[in-house]
This record gives sequence, C-alpha cells and structure tokens, in this order.
Amino acid sequence: MTNPDVLIIGSGLAGLTAATILTEKGKSAIVLDKGRGPGGRMSTRRMGEARCDHGAQYFSTKTADFQNFIKKAEAAGAVKNWTPAHLDDDHSRWVGANGMNSLPKFLAKNLTVKTSQRVVRLEQNNGWIAYTESGDQFSGKALVIAIPAPQALDLLKNSGLDLPESLAALRQIEYYPCLAVLARLDRASALPAPGSLAFENHEIAWMADNFQKGISPEPTLTIHASPAFSQAHLDGDLQAAGAKLLELAKPQLGDAEVLDFQVHRWRYSLPYQRFPEPFFKAETEFPMLFGGDGFGMGNVEGAFLSGLAIGKAV
Ligand SMILES: Cc1cc2nc3c(=O)[nH]c(=O)nc-3n(C[C@H](O)[C@H](O)[C@H](O)COP(=O)(O)OP(=O)(O)OC[C@H]3O[C@@H](n4cnc5c(N)ncnc54)[C@H](O)[C@@H]3O)c2cc1C
Repeated sequence: MTNPDVLIIGSGLAGLTAATILTEKGKSAIVLDKGRGPGGRMSTRRMGEARCDHGAQYFSTKTADFQNFIKKAEAAGAVKNWTPAHLDDDHSRWVGANGMNSLPKFLAKNLTVKTSQRVVRLEQNNGWIAYTESGDQFSGKALVIAIPAPQALDLLKNSGLDLPESLAALRQIEYYPCLAVLARLDRASALPAPGSLAFENHEIAWMADNFQKGISPEPTLTIHASPAFSQAHLDGDLQAAGAKLLELAKPQLGDAEVLDFQVHRWRYSLPYQRFPEPFFKAETEFPMLFGGDGFGMGNVEGAFLSGLAIGKAV
C-alpha cells in the first residue's frame, strides 16, 4: 500500500482539479472513484456509435481562474464553445468536445485515478486509510472528500466518525434529484439550433439534441425532468416515467421517431443549498477537507473552484 501525500475520494471535476493542483505543487495524489470512469456528473454515455450527455449539459466561465483553465482545455481540444440563443445573458457557454466527459478525461490522463473503487469506510491511523467495497485499502497523509454531501455524510456515519462541525457543514447542502432520459432517434429532432430548449413550469426542465450539439455522430436526445417530476417518480417505475417524458417531448421531435431509450436516476444533480466557502476543513488530527459543487457556486465552475481552493490549501 503506497502512502501518497493526499488521498482524494471522487473523480468529478472538483477531485480531479484538486489532484492536478497538488501534482503541480510536487505532491503525490491518488484519486478513488466508484464509477467505471472519471468525471462524475460530467458524464457522457455511449449508445452504440451514438453519444449522450446525461448529467451536466454545458457550463459557463464567469471567473478568471476558470476562464484561464478552459483556454488551456480548448487549446488541447477538450472543450468547445456552445452558446444557445435562449440562454440570452452575457456569458458564453462551453461543452466537452466529444461530450461533457472530455473535460474530466483531459485532467485525468495525467493523474493516478483508481476507478471501480467505492470507499465504504475511513479510518484515521497515522494519516488516513480508505477501505473500498472491493476489499482494497488506500492510504494518504491527508484526505479530500469531493463527493455530494449526503454521500459524504453516509461515509462518515459508516466510519463511526462523529465530527460535529463537519456534520453541521455538510448538512447545510441539499440537492435536487433529476431523472434523465437518453433516447436514440432515427433522425435529428426539431429542437432549435444549436440543439436545446429550456422549459419553465413544465414536467420537462431541459431537452438537448446531442447530434445538433455536435457531440454525437448519430441523433440522440437528452431530457431532464423538472425537480418536482423527478422527486415524484424517483423510486417508481423509471421506464414508465421515461415514456411519459418522451410523450411530453413529442412536439419538439418533429418527424423523428424514438428507436430506444434509457432512464438514469440522479439522486443528486444541482445543489440548491450550498456551503458558502469553496471547501470545509475538519478539526481532525490528520488533514481532512470536504469539497465539490456543494461548496460555493454549485455547478461545473463551482466544482472547479472548489478543487482549485483545496489544491492550494492542502
Ligand atoms: C442532470 C444534471 C444536470 C446538470 N446540469 C448542469 C449544467 O448544465 N451546468 C453546470 O454547470 N452544472 C450542471 N450540473 C452539475 C454539475 O454536473 C456538477 O456541479 C459538477 O459536475 C459536480 O462536480 P463534483 O466534482 O463536485 O462532483 P461529481 O461530479 O458528482 O463527482 C463526485 C464523484 O465521486 C464519486 N463517489 C461518490 N461517492 C463515492 C464513494 N463512496 N467512493 C468513491 N467514489 C465516490 C462519484 O462516482 C463521482 O464520480 C448538472 C448535474 C446533473 C446531474
């Protein structure tokens, strides 16, 4: 068991950014993730040859730190500009070049990321030890937990870690759920260029055509249900909920027919209540920091800024 300077749980944008900054500072870092690949909620699913962004759909760059990072990612071919007219404010929007997952992949290629490693228990023992579901152990002198706050609370509970201040910080953070429908179409939809529509007071919150968006060689559709619809159907029959959403989406499909579809349940999508600072440092013998999009801005840019602040602070 190697003992890196920092053990990071979560290979979303926050965890990967923290690992990148730490590595640039000359520290060693290992990132653990329960998923099959890095990226967390910046995820792109393959459906045969087709691709479908089913978590984050785009991001804005409001701060100089994130703008500078995105310039580097653009130069490396990892992101591209994509600004729908219906989001008519002054901010440009960006997407991953081959789907949102291109950005975390760009960061992960220079890092040590261990996937399919769900951390189930933590122990403080001359640093930190993380025990994973697969029976492996990983250690680190400091620990960064960059996962949604409710999952971090579960992990602390399962570890018997009663850290009152940390629990209070994490309990402030709350997320909307989101049901996402990923459908293959036989032709492009009738969604307006560049391939998206946002809805208000509707069962559907968002629709995107990933072919028009330029990330899929074949037409695929992403539908995000509203928080109210998602909450009402979260633990019910997901395929039935997906079929209902596709029926409601019909006016936007034009002549396109649905070939097949999947439904993904995000228990934690966007945080509507957040901790005001970009991270929280626990009162522990060995350093333990919590970060992610629940800390600060509450979106892709916020996750980056949280990781950046953690990388500088550790
Ligand atoms: C449906 C949806 C739509 C969204 N739309 C937008 C949008 O349009 N624009 C925008 O800016 N943001 C959007 N977001 C939010 C955005 O995706 C997030 O803010 C950002 O990606 C969060 O990054 P993160 O690193 O904080 O967390 P995550 O990306 O969630 O990363 C956390 C990682 O931790 C891993 N993990 C969790 N528990 C464990 C464990 N016990 N052991 C090991 N690994 C674990 C997970 O597998 C995950 O990979 C959306 C999110 C969703 C779900």
